[in-house]
Amino acid sequence: ATPTAVTVGIGRAAEYGILIKNGETLETSGHVDVAIFDKTGTITEGNPEVVDVIIFDDIKNNTETKSDEDADSDISEESQFGMTENDFIQMIASLENNSTHPLANAIVRKAEELSIDLIKISDFENVTGKGLKGTINNKNILVGNKALLEEEGIFESEDTNISFNALEKYDELTKQSKTAIFLVYNESIKGIITLMDKVRPNSKATIEQLKRMGIFTLMLTGDNEKTAKNVANSVGIDDYIAEVLPNEKLEKVVEIQNTDKKGKVLFVGDGINDAPALSQADIGIALGSGTDIAMESGDVVLMEGNLENVVASIQFSNKVMTRIK
Ligand code: ADP
Ligand code: MG
Repeated sequence: ATPTAVTVGIGRAAEYGILIKNGETLETSGHVDVAIFDKTGTITEGNPEVVDVIIFDDIKNNTETKSDEDADSDISEESQFGMTENDFIQMIASLENNSTHPLANAIVRKAEELSIDLIKISDFENVTGKGLKGTINNKNILVGNKALLEEEGIFESEDTNISFNALEKYDELTKQSKTAIFLVYNESIKGIITLMDKVRPNSKATIEQLKRMGIFTLMLTGDNEKTAKNVANSVGIDDYIAEVLPNEKLEKVVEIQNTDKKGKVLFVGDGINDAPALSQADIGIALGSGTDIAMESGDVVLMEGNLENVVASIQFSNKVMTRIK
């Protein structure tokens, strides 16, 4: 191989916003069999927005028949447990203020919009792929998905009816493609906040083109099953795996590399939790809109966060390689 062709090739790709950090990528790109995508921030824009704020009394009232008396009262303003919608958002946002996750940013932004002051959290802990923990006034606070509450035994310790209704509401919301997050304060489920993220405009076209090139496409996400399924269907990806923990993204890459010894595995991601998978994959493509660590771990960085450049980088490599041979 002539080093000049590689250098020229890398230079041309850069003009399109495709930064090839590793020259070897040009050789491997033509042999990709499987392309794995992260969901949040990769197939989707990664700018979720708060959609619903449902406090515990709402959950109860939604599943039980409302009496006429209740119908007029604004439950979210004055709950019988004394938690207003503002209190609810304040608690969640105060905990999320300690996290840099896209979901956390969206929730903190929401509190700012409502001019809600944040309060100090003690014993903060990040439970990767599940949520956050801490204490306020020496009472435990949990903000996260179903897996986090299961891990903490909340559904068992909480009143059976409340647990049942909360889970039913969670299912209903996630079916609508929303990411649903519980707030548990002082061991009691207070409610759910939901967020929604948009699919990138060219995700579908990217997946279609890769499939046409004979590449198997797979999406991995830490998000819930139903949201994952909706996103997967809307972009036409071959397969998806939901509720994947960060270390499992790496394990999946290794597993595919071990079963498919001839083909190469490409991984496209943006987050901190994608970094190990980006390094492990034969070709790691990081989105320039992503985290620094993802960009450091990738062999290729797409500057404009344009997903269609995944296809362009493969085609480009093929062109350079034919010229070299
Ligand atoms: P993805 O693989 O889609 O980028 P993550 O692994 O970062 O997702 O997160 C998976 C899930 O963990 C989220 O959908 C959410 O339910 C929960 N989670 C992660 N971080 C937080 C957070 N800061 N607050 C609440 N929930 C979180
Ligand atoms: Mg992501």
